[in-house]
Amino acid sequence: MTEQFKQSQWHADPDYFLRKLASAIPGLLCAYWLSADGESHRYLLISEQVQNVLGLDPAALRESADLMFDAVHPDDLAGLNASVAESARALAPWRYQARLKLRAGHYEWFEAHSKPERQADGSTVWYGQLHNIQHYKDLEITLRESEAESAFQANFQKLIARLSTEFINLGFGSIDECISELLRAIGAFFEVDRAYLYEFSPDYCVMDNTHEWCSSGVPSLIDSQRDVPTDGFDWWRGKIDEMVSGNRVIFVEATERIPAGPERTLLEQQGVSSMFCVPVRVRGLVTGFFGVDSLRKRAWREDQADLLIIVSGLLSGALERHRLESELLNQSIRDPLTALHNRRYLMPRLNEMLSRANRHREHFTLAMFDLDRFKHINDSNGHLGGDFCLRTFADILLEQTRETDVVARFGGEEFVVAFSGVSQADVRDTVSRIIRAVRSHNFVFENSVLPLTVSAGIAAIGELDDIPATPDPLIRLADDRLYCAKQAGRDCLVDASGVSRI
Ligand code: GH3
Ligand code: MG
Ligand code: MG
Repeated sequence: MTEQFKQSQWHADPDYFLRKLASAIPGLLCAYWLSADGESHRYLLISEQVQNVLGLDPAALRESADLMFDAVHPDDLAGLNASVAESARALAPWRYQARLKLRAGHYEWFEAHSKPERQADGSTVWYGQLHNIQHYKDLEITLRESEAESAFQANFQKLIARLSTEFINLGFGSIDECISELLRAIGAFFEVDRAYLYEFSPDYCVMDNTHEWCSSGVPSLIDSQRDVPTDGFDWWRGKIDEMVSGNRVIFVEATERIPAGPERTLLEQQGVSSMFCVPVRVRGLVTGFFGVDSLRKRAWREDQADLLIIVSGLLSGALERHRLESELLNQSIRDPLTALHNRRYLMPRLNEMLSRANRHREHFTLAMFDLDRFKHINDSNGHLGGDFCLRTFADILLEQTRETDVVARFGGEEFVVAFSGVSQADVRDTVSRIIRAVRSHNFVFENSVLPLTVSAGIAAIGELDDIPATPDPLIRLADDRLYCAKQAGRDCLVDASGVSRI
């Protein structure tokens, strides 16, 4: 019975089984014919599903293959034509991947496999199949994306590890050099146009752009962004509040989407298209922010904020440590009672100032002060009264000297001022002024006026026999002269010319 059925079908339509076969396999079976001159082409046979898959009429394709070639993605057509021509020339199996327009209107990837066979008239026929490989292409893209994602994450981790090590060791030099290197590395990594650090004033009313990195060709803004008052920038003030009280990140995806106002105008003038700002905290307090600008529109990664928060954490840590270190350093080189520099600071500074003066043959003079009968002040007013005099005398010294003079508490009630680049006569005037100022100052402590005076000894570099001059003989000479001033009755100064009563 089955035998009879097959045979009758075969006799009625010899292509019946072939069509059945073609419709049962995934993809399209085809026999493609190309004339010897390459001018005409058609499908001798093509699966009927071409209608369903590509929306092309199989009967029309049997007349001309043009419709099929019209369905090829324009970017893939030239390559496809060249490979068909090459396969015809070499009679090599043809395998090609190209996008075809589906009946639904969009393109998907297909792969063709076929074998060419030359005909007696010089034309060529390829026997083979076409099948949809979009699924593999999607997988490939996902795989490539996840590889790129892992590489991005790994590179970011590596960068952060490098920067934090360098920060800990201050491998890039000073804290400023470290911050500049961090901005450069992060700016380049995220491919932004600018990366910067701002510091707020304690009341958040002024912000100061302290560090900036710009990619090549991008104009720098730092000079116009020093100590900028924030009043008048209401939108931005609101954002600062969010950073300060909510530790929130500011993300401007497109400048044109922020409310019209001075901020938008400014960003437009600066050519900023989008930006990210992350608060920087030192000891739990927001002290500024770290930010990046992009001049062109760009799609930001979803986790961009998280990554930039890590960077800002690194900056916070470095700034916090730097502040701690400078405080410790300050503590170790300053006298806590008067806040003047101490002897530990003075000695190396003297060395450095003296060698400069030696090199450039400049004036260098040292004055040593000792409060008169200070023991008596302590005895009659208590130690706190004495401390008050020491602090007040330190203020007088600072008032009467220049910023470039080094003023130090040398010990107990002895003080040293080092004057560089000042003539002896000018130093004598300054010291005289100090002695007069102390004498006339009302040191009022617990309702009584303390009678304080001071004596001074002055020594200059030019008076020393040993050249180059070193700190010790200069201090010794000033100290000897101070002793002479005490012997001469106090409240006076002694220099190379002898005792001067003022
Ligand atoms: P002279 O005029 O000869 O310098 O007499 P003097 O009493 O100032 O001399 P002396 O060097 O004997 O005394 C210095 C005093 O300064 C002794 C010491 O108790 C006091 N002194 C040193 N350091 C401090 C300090 O930090 N605070 C107070 N209140 N007194 C101090
Ligand atoms: Mg004294
Ligand atoms: Mg003394």
